[in-house]
Amino acid sequence: AKKVGKANWCMFTQELDDRARARLQVESDLHHAVNENEFKVYFQPQVNAHTHEIVGCETLVRWQHPTRGLVYPGEFIEHAEDNGLITRIGDWVLRAAMSEARKLPEHIRVSVNISPVQIHSANLIPTIVHAIAANNIDPTRLELEITENVLMSDTEFTLQRLHQLKDLGIRIALDDFGTGYSSLSYLRRFPFDRIKIDKSFVRDIETRSDSRSIAVATLSLAKSLGMRCTAEGVETRYQADFLRDCGCDELQGFFISRAQPLEKLQHMIELKKVK
Ligand code: C2E
Ligand code: CA
Ligand code: CA
Ligand code: CA
Repeated sequence: AKKVGKANWCMFTQELDDRARARLQVESDLHHAVNENEFKVYFQPQVNAHTHEIVGCETLVRWQHPTRGLVYPGEFIEHAEDNGLITRIGDWVLRAAMSEARKLPEHIRVSVNISPVQIHSANLIPTIVHAIAANNIDPTRLELEITENVLMSDTEFTLQRLHQLKDLGIRIALDDFGTGYSSLSYLRRFPFDRIKIDKSFVRDIETRSDSRSIAVATLSLAKSLGMRCTAEGVETRYQADFLRDCGCDELQGFFISRAQPLEKLQHMIELKKVK
């Protein structure tokens, strides 16, 4: 029994070792990526729920890894948040998004995901102000997407930060609504322009009445608080029609389009209507 125990222990430490090594590898790769500028921004269209015309897009970062190919943010954002590189990546994404926004028609809104770590960074406001000015972007075209987690720690500071951003004319969206643990009272305290219904609720609209109820309640809450509503992860016509009929303003998801390089998005905008 002792032997088995020891063997297990060895396997266990070996596994930890492998994980630690993989982690270090990602970290050093990420440093390299930041220095060598291996990131790319893709844009996923957001459409008017009634006309399906493109009204905006969400900026989604990808990592063009020299050997692994295109790496999705799910595989590196958390690491980057843990080791602090997220502020540099996030600043780069903001600058890239604004310089691409300049090539899009002026009525197209561009949203950018902001990590909780970035909200606390002293770089955030200067980076935004500079990126907007350098590209001559109307600040109302920029929307920042933040998640509920941001609101749970250092509430006063975050509130102040969001008001600074609002004073610049920038819009704020609450991302992944309903997936965090905070109470609804923050909806009164924080200056959101928009709520994004999380894709986990959208996914089950056709099959689960509780998901339908949550979607409907979110829409009614947003409306009564004077906020706009975007549903993300819309994959089927059923979901698109249901959300439109319940008063959802905008839709985003594979049913409309995946995230694309800028040229593809420009082309879709020229065609006016996607689906
Ligand atoms: P998110 O903000 O919730 O972004 C939406 C994610 O859902 C994107 O994944 C998008 O490609 C995916 N998606 C869009 N439509 C559909 C659909 O119809 N069905 C399904 N199943 N998925 C859909 P992506 O690009 O892999 O990004 C994952 C997450 O990484 C994002 O989730 C966001 O939290 C984070 N992220 C992406 N770019 C950035 C960034 O520049 N900065 C920060 N801090 N986080 C980012
Ligand atoms: Ca988002
Ligand atoms: Ca989201
Ligand atoms: Ca998410």
